Amino acid sequence: MATPEKATCVIIGSGPAGYTAAIYASRANMNPILYTGSEPGGQLMITTDVENYPGYPEGVQGPTMMDDFMKQAERFGTQIRREMITKVDFSGEKHKLWTETGHELEADSVIISTGASAKWLGLENEQRLARNGGGVSACAVCDGFFYRGLDVAIVGAGDTAAEEALYLSKLCKNVHMLVRRDEMRASKIMQERVKKAENITIHWNTETVDVLGQDEVEGALVVNNKTKEESTLKVQGFFVAIGHKPNTGIFKEFLDMDETGYLITTPGRSYTNVEGVFASGDAQDHIYRQAVTAAGSGCMAALDAERYLAEKGVI
Ligand code: NDP
Repeated sequence: MATPEKATCVIIGSGPAGYTAAIYASRANMNPILYTGSEPGGQLMITTDVENYPGYPEGVQGPTMMDDFMKQAERFGTQIRREMITKVDFSGEKHKLWTETGHELEADSVIISTGASAKWLGLENEQRLARNGGGVSACAVCDGFFYRGLDVAIVGAGDTAAEEALYLSKLCKNVHMLVRRDEMRASKIMQERVKKAENITIHWNTETVDVLGQDEVEGALVVNNKTKEESTLKVQGFFVAIGHKPNTGIFKEFLDMDETGYLITTPGRSYTNVEGVFASGDAQDHIYRQAVTAAGSGCMAALDAERYLAEKGVI
């Protein structure tokens, strides 16, 4: 059996949290190795304009920003590996990690910045048509382009759904927004924008019964949950924007998490319940979930890890 690779600091994840942790860790001589995961750059890779990240007065494209983050981490010597960590063992003093190809590492410290992934409704047809590229998507910014001039539906009523409905309204003929309650969770300003858009129809108290179509979306069967009346919307694209789930499954056995899977850290710090394992970004934040807060928490995790390693005499 091959000897495990020794590492001072392994960072899992490549969103703003992971790259910021990498910038700080590499500048503190922690020789970090960063595993990008299956979606290098994280959620910002599927975002267009980022207008609320300080330092970009004119805004910036999500992928451009993440490319800048990566280059900055690389400049200070972070080793960036385009692979997934698929298994960990945090039961011993050294933290063990395995990549998807079976490569084993033994790390003095681990920073988790695995982020969160889109949630689905869980309907059979939704899943099938999402998997085969038949017109179901959880990312309007990625896939909206394919529905130019067509009619689409979008499920959800948070800021993501509002933002994506507006994005789609600029490309598509009609956008049907399916809201399960009689109010929206989105911020007031986003709600106003959605309500003002001429080609967005908000369907209140409306839930999806099924996504229709064999190989491609042909419509959505919806029900008004007050009147119980069912109706069919003729749409060619079906977008789901109902929130996210933290990517923390592989840590279940070892780390404390809440019922949704968000990692629990010591208030105001990045400590998990395992010494030497730190958490940052959306994997541990269900409240703010912003690029700038994720970046800030990545910085905290690297500083906490640095102090931990210094106290142990590792660096
Ligand atoms: P949220 O959790 O805020 O909203 C999820 C929405 O989906 C809710 O309206 C919820 O309905 C609805 N929903 C959940 N499950 C279902 C279901 N099974 N069927 C139908 N509808 C469902 O998630 P978001 O992704 O919108 O936002 C996450 C965070 O990110 C928020 O804090 C948000 O403010 C922030 N954000 C900020 C942005 C910005 O500042 N530019 C852009 C995007 C997000 P209900 O309300 O009934 O529970």
